[in-house]
Amino acid sequence: MSSILRSFIEVPADSHFPIQNLPYAIFSPKEGGPPRVGVAISNHVLDLALLEEEGLFTDDTLRNKTLFAKPTLNDFMALGRPAWRAARARLQQLLREDEPTLRDNLELRTRALRLMAAVQFHLPATIGDYTDFYSSRDHATNVGVMFRGKENALMPNWLHLPVAYHGRASSIVLSGTPVIRPQGQTAADDITPTFGPSRLVDFELEMGFFVGPGNALGDPIPVQEATEHIFGLVLVNDWSARDIQKWEYQPLGPFLAKNFATTISPWVIPLEALEPFRCPAPAQEPTPLPYLRADQDSSYDIHLEVTLQSEQMASPLVIARSNFRNLYWTMSQQLAHHTITGCNMRPGDLLASGTISGPTEDSYGSLLELTWRGSKPITLPSGEERRFLQDGDQLTLSGWCQGDGYRVGFGEATGKLLPAISL
Ligand code: CA
Repeated sequence: MSSILRSFIEVPADSHFPIQNLPYAIFSPKEGGPPRVGVAISNHVLDLALLEEEGLFTDDTLRNKTLFAKPTLNDFMALGRPAWRAARARLQQLLREDEPTLRDNLELRTRALRLMAAVQFHLPATIGDYTDFYSSRDHATNVGVMFRGKENALMPNWLHLPVAYHGRASSIVLSGTPVIRPQGQTAADDITPTFGPSRLVDFELEMGFFVGPGNALGDPIPVQEATEHIFGLVLVNDWSARDIQKWEYQPLGPFLAKNFATTISPWVIPLEALEPFRCPAPAQEPTPLPYLRADQDSSYDIHLEVTLQSEQMASPLVIARSNFRNLYWTMSQQLAHHTITGCNMRPGDLLASGTISGPTEDSYGSLLELTWRGSKPITLPSGEERRFLQDGDQLTLSGWCQGDGYRVGFGEATGKLLPAISL
């Protein structure tokens, strides 16, 4: 590449937030002030509410509007791709090395750029509805082998539709929020329940996308138009209590095993930033039914990593490496399938991928798979063993796309497991 786009702000090569990324978050200064929209550049947050107030967004789709002096991204998400494109183009222009507007105006620059360490992040959107898919073939196969045996590992429907359940939006929390070990009914013998703290708390490595413009009730989103409804992606940890899940899930699927917390990363990476990292969607055999078939569907090459740090460990240990492209069903297919009944989506709805496992044992996206139901414990550098998460364990997801000399990163989604509340 002859000339790579650069900012006047210095960005280390391994930073997640170069000028090629520009993800959105909601932040408020620690010194005080209302939550507003910001964009990441290196270790700084650019205050879009301030730029808006200064009249620096001049495109017709953005001008004379209050979009960024808001505590959520929902209004901006609702505007759709022309407005997202205009905002992104303007921000890339304002931040590039040869553009003086911000660079040479010390007073404006000082007010508009804040160190990430000096701000507090908030959930990026009001999430009306949250759906969790089950779209990794390796994950579904692994779980199937464990619970039903090799012969019937994949259920008959799995290769024909993106399986999902309706999740709980109220307990979606931002990265850094502690997670309390849930309590509930479990039945070791599958017959007689006892009550107490879950002993099999697990993580699930996932990504999720925020819906931009929605669809009217009764008006499905066609698969070939689906990306126009996708604003951007975040990391998702779908914390899961495996023992509660095992006792409760038949016949209607997960309920309390997954409603106590879902952690997401603060930065929403726009689809435009992922464009250079598009890769072919997986081959699908059998061919899906026509409403799930897109002419030019694609996936993204996003490296994913999971680390675990117990209270006795000085630094985190990488326990899994996977990739977004391992997903069998695409986001477009998920959205088309979700709405084919006429179900309406709204701006800010979150649709998560399901656990992203790859084909190798070190690419599994949950402890259930990494330790094969606890039969192969992980030995930590501290000498401790892990089958499932223990109190005090810090679990962190991270992800990035590797460009030529830069990274488009997702930051991290982290959470520490705290002891169950005593009743
Ligand atoms: Ca899940």
